[in-house]
Amino acid sequence: MRYIEIGIGMAVAILIFLAIQGIDLLPVLFFAGLMAAFFYGNIKRTGNKSFATVSKGAADEKLVSFDDIGGQDMAKGELCEALEFIKDVEGIKTLGIRPLKGILLNGPPGTGKTLLAKAAAQFTRSAFLAASGSEFVEMYVGVGAQRVRQLFKQARDMAKRNHKTSAVIFIDEIEVLGGKRGQNAGHMEYDQTLNELLVQMDGISENDAIRVLVIGATNRIDILDPALLRPGRFDRQVKVDLPDKKGRMKILQLHTRNKPLANDVSLADVANDTFGFSGAHLESVANEAAILAFRESSGTITAQHLRSAVEKVIMGEKLDRIPSSQEKNRIAVHETGHALLSEYTLPGSVASVNVVPRGNALGYVRQTQQDDMYLYTVDYINSKIAVAIAGAIAEEMFLGARSTGASNDFKQATDLAKQIVFGGMSELGIVSPEDVPKELLHNTITGIIKQIECQVRTVLTNHQTAFTLTVDTLLAKEFISGAEFRVLLNGDEQAA
Ligand code: ATP
Repeated sequence: MRYIEIGIGMAVAILIFLAIQGIDLLPVLFFAGLMAAFFYGNIKRTGNKSFATVSKGAADEKLVSFDDIGGQDMAKGELCEALEFIKDVEGIKTLGIRPLKGILLNGPPGTGKTLLAKAAAQFTRSAFLAASGSEFVEMYVGVGAQRVRQLFKQARDMAKRNHKTSAVIFIDEIEVLGGKRGQNAGHMEYDQTLNELLVQMDGISENDAIRVLVIGATNRIDILDPALLRPGRFDRQVKVDLPDKKGRMKILQLHTRNKPLANDVSLADVANDTFGFSGAHLESVANEAAILAFRESSGTITAQHLRSAVEKVIMGEKLDRIPSSQEKNRIAVHETGHALLSEYTLPGSVASVNVVPRGNALGYVRQTQQDDMYLYTVDYINSKIAVAIAGAIAEEMFLGARSTGASNDFKQATDLAKQIVFGGMSELGIVSPEDVPKELLHNTITGIIKQIECQVRTVLTNHQTAFTLTVDTLLAKEFISGAEFRVLLNGDEQAA
């Protein structure tokens, strides 16, 4: 498209130049008009699109099986159950079951939805064609609908060419083309594209020579048009969630199976350390660790490489920005405050303390979780608030004043306090968020945080020796692992 725009720009410049020279431009403009009409017509007719194909049935075929997907056991189970209908054509005909036309995979980015769709194609021995919702959105009315028709045709043609009897069409980000109709004011294009998808899906029948299955992926199921979700279209919805600890371990095993791991590596520890990571994050951890090993000319990937890779994937690349020694001292005090409260409220929760600028942070404490948690008690939220505000309180206690570095921490603390209030766990009891007066909400949040502030001061005062030791070690080494930090803390407790 950029070349077209450059071309148009150059043509206009030439025309202006010719006009200045006094040359009659009418024949030129007439010819240009003809060319533009031909070009536009061509785009409309063909949709100017060829969708990404993975299963061309030739040597370039990259097959993915369900065994290549870690975790997601529930999603795999549900998907396989639905796919049996595609495989057993005669069985479904005998019982008069209508064919399954669509499956919707719903979950956060990078959790393996595309992999599941590819595996579904392989499981059912189907041709596979992938497209993204955004590829259908065009300025010109009708082009999107044309592309939908073309996609279905292309899938059937591909299956025929490869002597297959079924095809899987995967549409990623389906919410872009399948959002609720009538919401894009003045933009009929979206509605027409979605209508065409519905028409094509309705047209799928068990008597078709090539059976088509549409697999859509989204993480915004709430904005999809109800017509897409009604039975007979995407009538199977499969949740594809972030992996749990066991799933993370499996994904790490898959992505390190072609990599030499040193004896000190425990993938279980890495899985434990990576709560909230998606499959894509974990793949990146394995890859970054291998890059680090390569840079150091190490023959194997060590536990340290994996730890650094986790830090990098969470926080981003190390920055060249070097804070002044005074600032560095403040950062060390701030981070030690967070770390001390984290370890005090949840023993074993500190994975590392860092004063190396990475991404948007000048320093950070990485926490880990012993078990995946899905429900939070008021005590747990209180401990999270304590950890969040401890950095600023440590600065105030040991350096005499707070700094601007804590604004994110305070936002986090107030958000957590809101969770307490709206979860019916504050002194206000059960409340409806819309009906709580702003001032009352503010006072309750301040009350919660003030009370926790007192507890944080007491903990910091009681652990001054370990605090100072940690700050000094951080200034010297820039990084302390969770295990080293616990040794410093234990020494302090034994001395007390
Ligand atoms: P998006 O919604 O952003 O398109 P997605 O859910 O479709 O993401 P995929 O494209 O399937 O995610 O995954 C991206 C990459 O992450 C994969 O190529 C793979 O390397 C890795 N990955 C993600 N989930 C898994 C998993 N469950 N098992 C193994 N690898 C995974």
